[in-house]
Amino acid sequence: MQKKRDIRALSKEQLREFFVNNNDQAFRGNQVYEWLWQKGTHSFEDMTNLSKETREMLEENFVINHIKVDQMQRSNDGTIKNAIKLHDKLVVESVLIPTDSRTTACVSSQVGCSLDCNFCATARLKRMRNLNPDEIYDQVVVIDKQSRLYHNHKLSNIVFMGMGEPLLNYKNVLEAIEKITSDEGLKMSPKRITLSTVGIPKMIKKLADDEVKFNLAVSLHSAIDEIRSKMMPINEKSNLAELLESLQYWYAKTKSKITFEYVVWKGINDTQKDVDALVDYCKKIPSKVNLIEYNAIDDGEFQQASPKAIERYVHSLEVNKIVVNVRRSRGKDIDAACGQLANKTA
Ligand code: SF4
Repeated sequence: MQKKRDIRALSKEQLREFFVNNNDQAFRGNQVYEWLWQKGTHSFEDMTNLSKETREMLEENFVINHIKVDQMQRSNDGTIKNAIKLHDKLVVESVLIPTDSRTTACVSSQVGCSLDCNFCATARLKRMRNLNPDEIYDQVVVIDKQSRLYHNHKLSNIVFMGMGEPLLNYKNVLEAIEKITSDEGLKMSPKRITLSTVGIPKMIKKLADDEVKFNLAVSLHSAIDEIRSKMMPINEKSNLAELLESLQYWYAKTKSKITFEYVVWKGINDTQKDVDALVDYCKKIPSKVNLIEYNAIDDGEFQQASPKAIERYVHSLEVNKIVVNVRRSRGKDIDAACGQLANKTA
């Protein structure tokens, strides 16, 4: 018997063609597309504006793959961390992060990761596969529902900062964002979406060439090659100078400021020399800095730097008119470091 296809892998145009090829009318494709993407149905039975025969015909040809929340942890600060089970039983993580004025979904783009950043829990899970566009989209739908249920308003922002490197799953991530922002999807503004990358110059240039409208963040963590390469092997392949050149290219095309994500670790990047290098780097590209508090993973090799060291960064950046925000760690009472929960459930 022929294997059934995942109907959500089909574009609206392909659905319309399917109906025409099966002696039906093209607009049925629009109806099915609406059920799948706007109404988020998981069963052909629910598609009540289709005849019984049409529903049976769909059932014979397709499956509707969808994700399930396998485990949910709620923190005292309102953070919700989900272990999400995919149709093939693999697990990724998605997190809802609330602040007073908004809720942000932190979503995954790959199962595991191939990039081996040595401070990251996800790096311990080898890369199994890329997520499909619908699996990325569904994480957003799940978190939007949780935001409405537990925080009384719809989801306001999305960051691609969960498991995986989004630029290594380029096509599917962009397709998911297209659906998230489209009128037939969630109608979210691209300005509320941030793609966070370790910084792959070739792909950053491609984003600029593709004229994307969402924001770009780069996990920098050091503006000194020797130190960054020790933490992030990707820096050996493409160093800070190459990264900078791609970011300048991005800015020239998009006029959109870069956000640098930066964790300060004790004994690793907490000296004045580290601060000065970051200030110099930021001066070369319109940018702002998020200093992120570190959620330690169990073995303690990486420790959060002292408040004094963080203050040194804040002071020097501000003196040099570079916008800096300090992001407190959320969900400390749950397994909130990216990859921690999936490491436990895998
Ligand atoms: S920090 Fe991001 S890119 Fe690096 S290993 Fe973890 S998931 Fe992969």
